[in-house]
Amino acid sequence: MRKAAFVYDEGLVARTMVEDEEFNPSRLKYTYELLRAYRAFNKSTSRLVVPDKADEAALLTFHTRDYVEAVRCFSRGERMCDAAKFNFSDYGDNPVFPGMYEVSTRIVGATLKAADLVAEGKVDVAFNHSGGGHHAAPNCASGFCIFNDVVIAIKHLLGKGLRVAYIDVDAHHADGVQNAFYDTDRVLTISLHETGRILFPGTGEPSEIGVGSGRGYSVNIPLAPYTDDEIYLWAFDQIVPKLVESYNPDVLVTQLGCDTHYLDPMTQLNLTTEGYEGVIKRLRQLAPKWVAVGGGGYEMSVVARCWTLAYGIMIDREWPNEIPRSYQELYGLKRLRDTEKPRLDSRIKKEARRFAEESIAGVRRLVFPYHGL
Ligand SMILES: [Zn+2]
Repeated sequence: MRKAAFVYDEGLVARTMVEDEEFNPSRLKYTYELLRAYRAFNKSTSRLVVPDKADEAALLTFHTRDYVEAVRCFSRGERMCDAAKFNFSDYGDNPVFPGMYEVSTRIVGATLKAADLVAEGKVDVAFNHSGGGHHAAPNCASGFCIFNDVVIAIKHLLGKGLRVAYIDVDAHHADGVQNAFYDTDRVLTISLHETGRILFPGTGEPSEIGVGSGRGYSVNIPLAPYTDDEIYLWAFDQIVPKLVESYNPDVLVTQLGCDTHYLDPMTQLNLTTEGYEGVIKRLRQLAPKWVAVGGGGYEMSVVARCWTLAYGIMIDREWPNEIPRSYQELYGLKRLRDTEKPRLDSRIKKEARRFAEESIAGVRRLVFPYHGL
């Protein structure tokens, strides 16, 4: 019997500031409440686990001391540090807010908790949906991400002698994670994302394959705007299973951003919950041991449904499509899965298909030879 853990407590949603903030913490709470409404934590095989805060030593495995100190200083409301130097500003993607150090270290602690539960064999899969800060760099914030919980957790797993494959299905390129392991073959990173020619952070071309002993271990599958379920899953199937099987990891770490959804306001990919479920089911097949984190997802009516579906797949449960009455009454959501699909102009679809084919050809040509494929 598979065992699973969902890592969560209220401390992860303590981030309260401007009303219209994109990285709205309430999306975490809505997801947790939806899972609870489905009675997701009622079995001994699916536990709700309370995370610990990460300590400073954990942060320093990836981030510079200067940067960690600066986040702590902004968190206390002190303005003597130079915010711009660390890519913070009041009006951009990375605003400074009181308590940011505490909540950010809690998020890192939650991903580390998920990693430990899996590494110690207590569970087969652990999900921290508050995690997934895949853009954060050693010395600065980026794209709503303050600390890179993903990199810190992967380093922690490597420290235990485990072989790690990382798969990132967020709509944005996993630049921070790729950069952290760009020169090593100890982590295989694979990112599927909307092309950086259009979307932040601007990187993630198939030609970014790693350097030195890392050559062939950074894999990028950029996709065109309006890429739909069919094209996305086709692209995934062309590349991901072969590489992961050949790499043969001990543990799979996945970033499950759901900003690929067609209703997401910040991206132009066109997935539905059906496509998203298709991705998670494939990951489920590939994962011997599985550490899952959240990521992007900025449409409130979508995020809780996607991550609830994802956790259902992790614990081998098929949730009824009708959302439990108690939740419907609170938030008005009625169906777990999408009832409509976006309609695509055939010319646009053809272009998205052509773009995906080109990306796949690039990965096959540039990466596959390093894996004997
Ligand atoms: Zn994203």
